[in-house]
Amino acid sequence: MTEELEHVKCLIIGSGPAGYTAAIYAARADLKPVMITGMQMGGQLTQTTDVENFPGYPGGVMGPDMMEDFRKQAERFGTDIRFGYVSAVDFSGPVHKVVVDDVKTILADTVIISTGASAKYLGLESEQKYNGFGVSACAVCDGFFFKNQDVAIVGAGDTAAEEATYLSKLCNKVYMLVRRDEFRASKAMVKRVLNTPNIEVLYNTETKEILGDNKAVTGVRVVNNQTQEERDLAVTGFFVAIGHKPNTDIFRDWLDMDETGYIITNPDSTSTKIPGVFVSGDAQDKIFRQAITAAGTGCMAALEAERYLAAKEYE
Ligand code: NDP
Repeated sequence: MTEELEHVKCLIIGSGPAGYTAAIYAARADLKPVMITGMQMGGQLTQTTDVENFPGYPGGVMGPDMMEDFRKQAERFGTDIRFGYVSAVDFSGPVHKVVVDDVKTILADTVIISTGASAKYLGLESEQKYNGFGVSACAVCDGFFFKNQDVAIVGAGDTAAEEATYLSKLCNKVYMLVRRDEFRASKAMVKRVLNTPNIEVLYNTETKEILGDNKAVTGVRVVNNQTQEERDLAVTGFFVAIGHKPNTDIFRDWLDMDETGYIITNPDSTSTKIPGVFVSGDAQDKIFRQAITAAGTGCMAALEAERYLAAKEYE
């Protein structure tokens, strides 16, 4: 006798702003969504402190509190939220198979992927210690807290260049730590950085340690990898912009991705090459990566899932 598998209309993978927004829309459309949260329930925002750029919170909100609000709103309309992780998928048939926690298989007519991305960090102990207390991986989110102060940013790609330029408008001085003697960023972005008077680029420079007073960042110790000369920079903010890794490895065999792992969607849509599989949020967005844009694409994915199911009824 074979065990009967659970079959759902809409399965949402991930519980960041994209996943919860998809859940709110899908639940209100009576798709009875089941959400598998992932191991970091609430996603990247649960690791941030103040969020001041999400509309609807005029006084700002703490990242974890905001994700609680998202969760409550998704639950209010009946989303079945389950803590766990998706360990494998099989998108070979018209009905999709999703394996949860390595053991349980769920069948789903539609799948909304909102597994997000993780910022890469240098891997220093002091960086982890001061994460959220001066160390940040998002200048747009946290730059404001360092208004008129001196900060450093590590990285030499387009993100680092863009974020350094953004910070230069708010901060007194921005040190940009570039590990080679050249940038990876596009020429136009580099030009903008080099033409900004309050950005000082330190080439061949690596981060040795983030300095602090046990409460917040007070500086950064850097080393020139050509001369081995060490130097302490007095900064209150340390921004890491060395790339992100989308959490999409389990979909690699089924969906098209770029070289970093961002899932490629059809133009102006969250749909993928597999009918019934949609992707929202940072798993498909390497440009904007904001909570509000993730929420926007989560909404799109749920609306597209609903339309897909409605069209199937008439097949
Ligand atoms: P990238 O992978 O392009 O760049 C990462 C940068 O971080 C590189 O310069 C790399 O140095 C540096 N780095 C990596 N590890 C370390 C380390 N341990 N210590 C010091 N430096 C390190 O990531 P981005 O996030 O910048 O960009 C990702 C993609 O998104 C790119 O395709 C980019 O073009 C795109 N993008 C486009 C934007 C736009 O068009 N407006 C804006 C933002 C991103 P090295 O060069 O030495 O390897």
